[in-house]
Amino acid sequence: MLVDSFGRTIDYVRISVTDHCNLRCVYCMPADIKWLPHEEILRNEEIVRLVDVFVSLGIKKVRFTGGEPLLRKGFFDIVKQVRSNHKELEICITTNGVLLEQYIDKIQEFNVQKVNVSLDSLNPDTFAKITGVNAIHKVINGILKITSLEGVECKINAVIMESTLDELEELVRFATNIHAIRFIERMPLSNDPVPFVSADTLLQKLESLGTVQRKTTSDTHVAAMYRFLPRWDKRAVINVGIIPAVSHRFCSKCNRLRVTSDGMLRACLHDATEYNLKKILRGQLNNDIREVITNAVSHKKEGHSLMQCDDTAFNCSGMAMHSMSKIGG
Ligand code: SAM
Ligand code: SF4
Repeated sequence: MLVDSFGRTIDYVRISVTDHCNLRCVYCMPADIKWLPHEEILRNEEIVRLVDVFVSLGIKKVRFTGGEPLLRKGFFDIVKQVRSNHKELEICITTNGVLLEQYIDKIQEFNVQKVNVSLDSLNPDTFAKITGVNAIHKVINGILKITSLEGVECKINAVIMESTLDELEELVRFATNIHAIRFIERMPLSNDPVPFVSADTLLQKLESLGTVQRKTTSDTHVAAMYRFLPRWDKRAVINVGIIPAVSHRFCSKCNRLRVTSDGMLRACLHDATEYNLKKILRGQLNNDIREVITNAVSHKKEGHSLMQCDDTAFNCSGMAMHSMSKIGG
């Protein structure tokens, strides 16, 4: 079992399988993004081997992310092999949903238990403005198909910006029949501050739309969870989460590691220290991969240091971070 020096059990790993994406979300992809050379990206068998190692160290849950994981050729060959090797492992995917519809059968066949779909706006024009692509109908169809599957939990992730705060109600309404919707504070991609809608503002907005009851027992490692009783439907109960990525911290509950698409292990999204697992997998380094992972866990920092700003409504924050699409959001 992996336990860090602050007593946190690490049993969850997020693996980015590609840095490429079919969308260009304004808050994620820098305009001057440079793709990694193909040979730097972990191969299928390397990802499968990595998961084997992680599971042998006590990892219980793996999430495939990116970039856009469904864009990777042969992505479901990886999922198939991982599932075949590890019947008990929780397998999850985070996707923008554009290609989801065509992989519904695979998701069911390989028992992918959780699918998080990112959707920031239901307005086709706003969606296209944020993502650069006119693809909202594909995303919505994908979500509807996924939610019709038994045994697959679907959550929506939405990064709310100043310009889309008024769309919160529509998004929450859309989530009525979905496991949960979670609103994420926008994180900056560089040291340049960006405006973001704070968790407190999101909560206030929700309170103006209905009754909000905190469910501390349902809090996840990253999100504060609420039972939301909308004023427009007395019988509806909607699970709403708020991920205070910038303004507050969930570091004390952090249980995760990350592997970038080029095989670098990170103990924290916001800690630039990387451990090169790819070189070990390719025999270019002689280190014991299990020892390297254990060492990374023992050096996992207590918390991150995103700056907090005094502006209460639309906070500003700055920090050094590369594109989420490269690290794997
Ligand atoms: N392409 C997939 C998707 O969009 O779901 C998976 C990768 S994406 C990097 C994972 C998550 O990171 C998405 O929910 C996205 O909204 C979030 N994300 C990306 N950049 C972000 C930022 N600057 N601040 C907060 N969340 C961000
Ligand atoms: Fe692509 Fe996801 Fe980043 Fe949007 S958030 S650009 S969909 S990787």
